[in-house]
Amino acid sequence: MATIHPTLKVKPREGKRARAGSPWIFSNEIVMDAEMKALDPGEAVDVVLDDGTPLGTAIFNGKTLIAARLVSSEPGIALDADFFAARLARADAIRARLFATPFYRVAHAEADGLPGLVVDRYGDVLSVQMGAAGMDVRTDIIVAALRRVFEPRAIVLRNDFQARTLEGLPSLTALAYGKEPGEIAFKENGATFLCDPMTGQKTGWFYDQRENRAFAGRFAKGLSVLDVFSHAGGFALAALAAGASEALCIDASEKALGLAGKAASASGFEAKLGLRKADAFEALDDMAAQGVKFGLVIADPPAFAKSRKDIEPAARAYRKLARAAAAAVEPGGTLVLGSCSHHIDAARFHAECAAGIHQAKRPARLLRSSGADVDHPVHPHLPETAYLKALVFALD
Ligand code: SAH
Repeated sequence: MATIHPTLKVKPREGKRARAGSPWIFSNEIVMDAEMKALDPGEAVDVVLDDGTPLGTAIFNGKTLIAARLVSSEPGIALDADFFAARLARADAIRARLFATPFYRVAHAEADGLPGLVVDRYGDVLSVQMGAAGMDVRTDIIVAALRRVFEPRAIVLRNDFQARTLEGLPSLTALAYGKEPGEIAFKENGATFLCDPMTGQKTGWFYDQRENRAFAGRFAKGLSVLDVFSHAGGFALAALAAGASEALCIDASEKALGLAGKAASASGFEAKLGLRKADAFEALDDMAAQGVKFGLVIADPPAFAKSRKDIEPAARAYRKLARAAAAAVEPGGTLVLGSCSHHIDAARFHAECAAGIHQAKRPARLLRSSGADVDHPVHPHLPETAYLKALVFALD
């Protein structure tokens, strides 16, 4: 039986993207009548166009720009544990075909039909982010569904990220189920890594670069490797596992470097991995002054553009980083540049990297341009959800 939801009306001639398949309806596109104003953030609504055509069931938040996020093209869908369990099981079935072990992003928000909900799976530990009020208010239901589908030993809520403020949500980290998981060891690209879902960055690990780390590893044999903005060593250790002679991780976070060091020990590479706590730009300048170079250099920084207004300064920072990182590459070496800023699109990122490499006076070939690994799908009608860019250049 269909559930009765309040009706959210789209203004005449508005909702163009949603009609074409996008799940998002913006605050300027809706009729904000007294009934809508009275709704709490996160309530379920049925969305209808001006002519009465139903668009489906959505989660609503009248306090933010993305006012409604469609969860189904059917109206009257109950957002209960059965609903979430079915969506999560579907998302997991895709990953289970692609990965040998249960270490992956199991739910990637809109692209998996779960707007604003991210779930990373570390074996029997789940690390969850809720970036929409409609998910946040259903935390208990979602936790029940996660327990039903995955039978985890722990569920961690990593709701301590900046974008939540856009939805009027507080920042918090909490254990939603089970006991504190502590550090978790897992295999990726031939090395053993460690992550801490409670205290690590984001959900604990950046699975999105898995495939790009493997690709970078194909260049690594016999070379010295520099991994700037290394976090817990994802690129550096993949390169060592692929035969690099030595690697240096540079990161501003002692905690991240500590995990990289433990990962090196667990992988048998402690003698080959150097760790340096430093600002990446300063470290690159120092190395340039000393003429230190590497056969493979990876620079995968945090998002420089956190909002639209950051686009120009962020673009300059990507250019500066490309220039400094290119200068650290030996003749004939390889340069990997990453960006996770969704405000900087692929074309802009490419242009800034190309400009920076040119400023470093290094003739280059672009060998590969890629995005996030397959456990981070893109919603076909939200190209802006393709946030990750990775470019691989062979320098002369
Ligand atoms: N390349 C990593 C992910 C990088 S995330 C991987 O494959 O997993 C970005 C990293 O940059 C974080 O670990 C953060 O601690 C670090 N960081 C942020 N600002 C920095 C700075 N100014 N200098 C060095 N590291 C920095």
